[in-house]
Amino acid sequence: MADRARIVIVGGGVAGIEVATSLGRGGRADVTLADRSLSHVWKPMLHTFAAGTARADRQKVDFFAQARRNGFRFQPGALVGIDREARRARLAVEAAEGRPAVEIAYDLLVLAVGSRANDFGTPGVAEHCLTIDDLTEAEHFHAQLRCHLLARLDGGGLLEIAIVGGGATGVELAAELKHAINLLAAYGSPDLPGRLRLTLIESGPRLLPAFPEKVSRAAGRTLSDLAVEVRTGALVTAADADGFILKDGSRIPAGLKVWAAGVKAPDVLAGLDGLERSRTGQLVVRPDLRTTRDSSIIALGDCASLTDPRTGKPVPATAQAARQQAQHLARHLGRALARGDMPAADLPPFHYVEKGAIVSLADFNGWGTLGRYTFGGGRLNGLSARLTHDLLYRQHQIGLYGPLRGTMTWVLDDLDHLISPPVRLD
Ligand SMILES: Cc1cc2nc3c(=O)[nH]c(=O)nc-3n(C[C@H](O)[C@H](O)[C@H](O)COP(=O)(O)OP(=O)(O)OC[C@H]3O[C@@H](n4cnc5c(N)ncnc54)[C@H](O)[C@@H]3O)c2cc1C
Repeated sequence: MADRARIVIVGGGVAGIEVATSLGRGGRADVTLADRSLSHVWKPMLHTFAAGTARADRQKVDFFAQARRNGFRFQPGALVGIDREARRARLAVEAAEGRPAVEIAYDLLVLAVGSRANDFGTPGVAEHCLTIDDLTEAEHFHAQLRCHLLARLDGGGLLEIAIVGGGATGVELAAELKHAINLLAAYGSPDLPGRLRLTLIESGPRLLPAFPEKVSRAAGRTLSDLAVEVRTGALVTAADADGFILKDGSRIPAGLKVWAAGVKAPDVLAGLDGLERSRTGQLVVRPDLRTTRDSSIIALGDCASLTDPRTGKPVPATAQAARQQAQHLARHLGRALARGDMPAADLPPFHYVEKGAIVSLADFNGWGTLGRYTFGGGRLNGLSARLTHDLLYRQHQIGLYGPLRGTMTWVLDDLDHLISPPVRLD
């Protein structure tokens, strides 16, 4: 082993950037963060970038700058494989096309590469639907939305959008799109809201299956009031250029089609030198977050599959769970490094603490349930739910920037709302 333990973290999303920042600040290990992108964004905001109600350039964290300030190294590149025997991770660097992949040696490898929507192989989805699983896709969706909007500015015509997936992502995206179109009406096209046909399609019996039934009903009512057509119990069997085809043979016409259902691990995990994977491709980890077949590889966040031994339930693929795992790992690895017994040190088991679930419907409404560890449980709605939703992001920013700069970014965002238009016009 080198003088200082070499910790390589692949994936600088919600979980990975927090681990890199914390271990880098500790200064006791040689920490490298690798990501296929050059900047981090808070994934739960992607639907707002897609709709144009928030601007990504204000919310991005540049990996190079974050690394410089916090004592770690940033290596751009997409993970393409690992050699477990030699303990080396292979990364493909876009700018270095034609050159062999970069190889980085590790003593401990932390995989935090997130997840994607799962189209379950439904015919036509890959060719005809958009997804919003990363910033590039959210920006692409926004560009498509803008084209459809510009085409309808003067001549009229319907703007038909259909979203598959009635979980938090689909519900929040539907509300955000409605909000964006209402705002755009003030900029020269007052009849635009009346020409939007927005359909939300869910195969299960109700929206927001992870939330209590009362919240599902309330969200359904708010969306109906906003003239979003909600189709529950509707199984999509195919997509084509003109829309979605349902199991009962009916068709939902849509020029813009979004797939926001299901969760699966990125394909690259399939080729990782024999590591155990779950049915949806996540790396199976032990309670201490180490992968079952290799204790020098840890997985966390959406790309890890863990059943909490205390509750017997799977840890959900949410930002809340990803942050808790990142904080657990950073705290205990930091302590092990201070004792000098990394990487063989035993890490204590991770236990997920359900602090509640919150869904925010743009400026219209929001609901949440608090876990029993948060003020003894309870419900939130309206403004309090929307503010609590925002708070999870602000806590993440404070974790990355420290209390002073983190609070300043919050204040700057609020000032920006006073200056800039409430919706992207470019
Ligand atoms: C629109 C939307 C809304 C959401 N809203 C909420 C919400 O309100 N509350 C909530 O709790 N959760 C929400 N989620 C889920 C939440 O965003 C995820 O659970 C969370 O981001 C998982 O964190 P992570 O660190 O595991 O992965 P991510 O945050 O997805 O980060 C993965 C990182 O890995 C990088 N990466 C991927 N593949 C490679 C590769 N091959 N090589 C190198 N780097 C790679 C990516 O660039 C990215 O930086 C939402 C998700 C979406 C899409």
